[in-house]
Amino acid sequence: MAQSANLGFPRLGLKREWKKASEDYWKKKISLDELVQMANELTMRHWQLQMDAGIDYIPCNDFAFYDLMLDTAVLVGAVPERYGDFSTGEIDIDTYFAMARGRQDETTDVIAMEMTKWFDTNYHYIVPEFTRDMQFRLASNHPFNAVIRAREAGVKNPRPVLIGPATFLLLGKAVEENVDFSALLDSLIDVYAEVLNKFGEMGVDWVQMDEPVLVYDLDDEEKQLFEKAYAKLKNGANRPRMMIATYFGSIAHNVELAVSLGEGLHVDLVRAPEQLDTVLDHLADEQVLSLGLVDGRNVWRNNMDNSLVHLKHAAEVVGAERVQVAPSCSLLHSPIDLKEEKKLHPMVKQWMAFGKQKLREVHVLKETLNGQVLHVQQDLVEMRTALAMREASPLVHKPDVQNRLKALTEDMARRSTPFTDRHKKQQAKLSLPMLPTTTIGSFPQTREIRRLRSDLRKGNISTEEYEKKLEEAIIETIRYQEEIGLDVLVHGEFERNDMVEYFGQQLDGYIFTQNGWVQSYGSRGVKPPIIFGDVARKGPMSVRWSKFAKDQTDKPMKGMLTGPVTMLQWSFVRDDQPRHITAEQLALVIRDEVVDLERAGIDVIQIDEPAIREGLPLRKQDWNAYFEWAIRCFRIAASGVQDETQIHTHMCYSEFNDMMEAIAAMDADVISIEASRSRMELLDVFDQSDFVYPNDIGPGVYDIHSPRVPSQDEIAGLLKVALKHVPVERLWVNPDCGLKTRGWEETRPSLENMVAAAKQVRNEV
Ligand code: GLN
Ligand code: ZN
Repeated sequence: MAQSANLGFPRLGLKREWKKASEDYWKKKISLDELVQMANELTMRHWQLQMDAGIDYIPCNDFAFYDLMLDTAVLVGAVPERYGDFSTGEIDIDTYFAMARGRQDETTDVIAMEMTKWFDTNYHYIVPEFTRDMQFRLASNHPFNAVIRAREAGVKNPRPVLIGPATFLLLGKAVEENVDFSALLDSLIDVYAEVLNKFGEMGVDWVQMDEPVLVYDLDDEEKQLFEKAYAKLKNGANRPRMMIATYFGSIAHNVELAVSLGEGLHVDLVRAPEQLDTVLDHLADEQVLSLGLVDGRNVWRNNMDNSLVHLKHAAEVVGAERVQVAPSCSLLHSPIDLKEEKKLHPMVKQWMAFGKQKLREVHVLKETLNGQVLHVQQDLVEMRTALAMREASPLVHKPDVQNRLKALTEDMARRSTPFTDRHKKQQAKLSLPMLPTTTIGSFPQTREIRRLRSDLRKGNISTEEYEKKLEEAIIETIRYQEEIGLDVLVHGEFERNDMVEYFGQQLDGYIFTQNGWVQSYGSRGVKPPIIFGDVARKGPMSVRWSKFAKDQTDKPMKGMLTGPVTMLQWSFVRDDQPRHITAEQLALVIRDEVVDLERAGIDVIQIDEPAIREGLPLRKQDWNAYFEWAIRCFRIAASGVQDETQIHTHMCYSEFNDMMEAIAAMDADVISIEASRSRMELLDVFDQSDFVYPNDIGPGVYDIHSPRVPSQDEIAGLLKVALKHVPVERLWVNPDCGLKTRGWEETRPSLENMVAAAKQVRNEV
């Protein structure tokens, strides 16, 4: 008989209880005991939920106080020196949180460890730091306690989750020169062996080793690291069996390595169904195969009949007793319970499944495969009906939208004139000085501004009152920008709660949840909007405020929109059509908005694409295919306008050095791009290759993520660095990103210094 398994459960809690508890603890509002009590409550609740769902292999040690990579660093004693000497003894919770968040009080000021995105998800992990003579040691009992507590909760066979040694090492970073990873590995593996041995003594049957780096391209050295690690682990006499868990892509290119590591292998058949046969071909005798068939990263019901085809095929080849049914990856990336959504469109809701519902799907798949159809008949009927309705629903399929897509021509993805000609016409219209100054769009979202929006939402104030107050804020911001001498002004984006939600709420094809939280990092959750159907605009979305702003000033006013790739990237998207089709629909919607803005007299329009890099496929061989549609979508959005209209774009959140050519191909007239944190390293690409960025560019000259006020000298210095790489006629002056998270106290002097620096450098060149 086949079995069912889960790989991990969301940690924040249905009502984000963990967010509240950990933030209260940081603010010293609750004690450590109270914090631990909340952790226990949540894990108990989640174990119960998984037992109720009938899951055979239930994970433990998947709950982390902040992050599982950080837990692993603590487990093996990898505490960077700046947090104190932890070569022996216990690593206390405050040190753990200091590693995640930094520590600043009267006596200490230590920075946090780096945080970065977990593969192509929106989850961020803490990056382990490695030094030359690092010695690992078993420094925590957390995993063992997790097993004990899971058993106490009634979980018969808890399967502890560990980040595997190869993933831990390869996703970490060396913080000094000449760090020898293979030497580190020797010491690290001893600790892992000790952990496995302890599990063995505790009678643990299976352990889940997460080795998602197996979906990446691995070079020989990295493969050897794997081989060496697991050869040693496998020798452990008393260890549990190892389920090697991979997800977010195919492992077909590393299949021989992947099947050699443990007694079980989990593969993601949602992202990469095509790998199944390769994996089946290579599986060792008696090796268990866990099939990730239920999407752990999206919100749609499973297509059971599709899944059953894979399941039955696998069961025929290796025998049902060697098959496990599971979500594609940890449910960490999925909201918890759809039942709690009281306001969703009732029809659309029937097409969806959150964490709890996904576990039911896993169970139903298992029962069906095992011939226990009678137990789950009702589910199968519901599922098939829902799927049929979704496939035929006019809420999803809109002929108008589809006809427009069919009518798309290559001309629509191209400005009619090359940049240099457009630029002349734009300059004639805008008469900008050399080194023009601008901002990225948002101005500080003060408490008053946020209260204004929430008062409107709750009905505490009328629409007229709201609009009047907003107009006042806009006028004030415009007067301020005029006063300090900025060249291209913005209205401040005060009407926007979030750059995706604001537009999504005005579009057909989008819905929003009340509790659909997923962890982004630590205590922070995001509630991504959901694209369920063909996307269409109901009417202009931003024209009202941009036009109002434009009418208040003689200076150029920039209109701000969120680009199609970012709209896609930061939403849950449809799984019934390829991502690039949804992106094209979004591109047409933004295009219409751009044209409407132009008609309303806005002659500078910025289409933000901060998330463009996040969409990059995990393997380099797939990058070009992505660029092709992503760039095309941007261009569709940008190309409906006259030559005289200046299109800007903005990017942040990442390194762009390896994709500058793709960015150039977007052909925006002006790009503002994050650069100041790396002190303009971004521009080194211009030095190191023959590559010349063809259009106007504003590498950010100050970091808005910090309250620090940069001096005029500092900014002037950065501008001069930039001028070594960018001709003066091409260079813009702007901050790294929008100012919405900043206060006015630091925004004012920073912008004033920025404008002064631009003037200074103008005079000097
Ligand atoms: N226009 C947006 C703003 O200024 C851009 C935000 C972003 O890049 N994330 O807030
Ligand atoms: Zn930004």
